[in-house]
Amino acid sequence: MLIRIKCAISNCYLLLGERPVLVDTGAPGDLQRILNALKIHRIELNQIALILLTHGHSDHAGCAAELRRRSSAKIALHSGDAGLARSGENGVLAAQDQFGRLVRPFVDEPFESFEPDLIFRDSFSLTPYGIKGRVMATPGHTLGSASVVLDSGEAIIGDVLRGSILWPNRATPHFFCADPEMNTRSIVRLAREGLLRCYPGNFGSFPGTQLGRFLTTGTGKVMQLAGEPV
Ligand SMILES: [Zn+2]
Repeated sequence: MLIRIKCAISNCYLLLGERPVLVDTGAPGDLQRILNALKIHRIELNQIALILLTHGHSDHAGCAAELRRRSSAKIALHSGDAGLARSGENGVLAAQDQFGRLVRPFVDEPFESFEPDLIFRDSFSLTPYGIKGRVMATPGHTLGSASVVLDSGEAIIGDVLRGSILWPNRATPHFFCADPEMNTRSIVRLAREGLLRCYPGNFGSFPGTQLGRFLTTGTGKVMQLAGEPV
């Protein structure tokens, strides 16, 4: 079972299998929200099997160090973002639109630095942690972005795309992206999974078919299915 934990600006997720896995840890001020969610679902901190980070930005890795101290769970992060975790800083947040430039000063905050315990490069199975699914690299938003693809057809995709502020069930390009072309290849990679539902790092979830709106035509240009450039 997948549970969304709404934090101040981002989402964390709880995966409830044989043991709980926490995906992302919110921004530095989100600790109490996460602790409350664990309490509501009657999960003790020492039951957490793994803290998995979709990437190393402060609104996802913000409470990772503190939650590791309290739970003793290991932190898994893709090698591409290990430097962000060690520095406790977001690095360059490349805004993709006017709104991104507007919100950047408010979301670009430092967080407690840490050394990840499990550094992966491509994919790994979550079966040893009691979850039917796997983690796969989906870089672009950051060089070390990763997604969780569950056998149920659900996926937690970090900031590969975001949900819409206004419309339910709609995918939207994220405010920030380090490498848009690389991100498009990651969207293709996710689309090949035939996902039923995607759970992003910001705002609400959307059907997997929404990924089709962002696929490349083969000419290198990213087009919506309607033929309009994204
Ligand atoms: Zn991010």
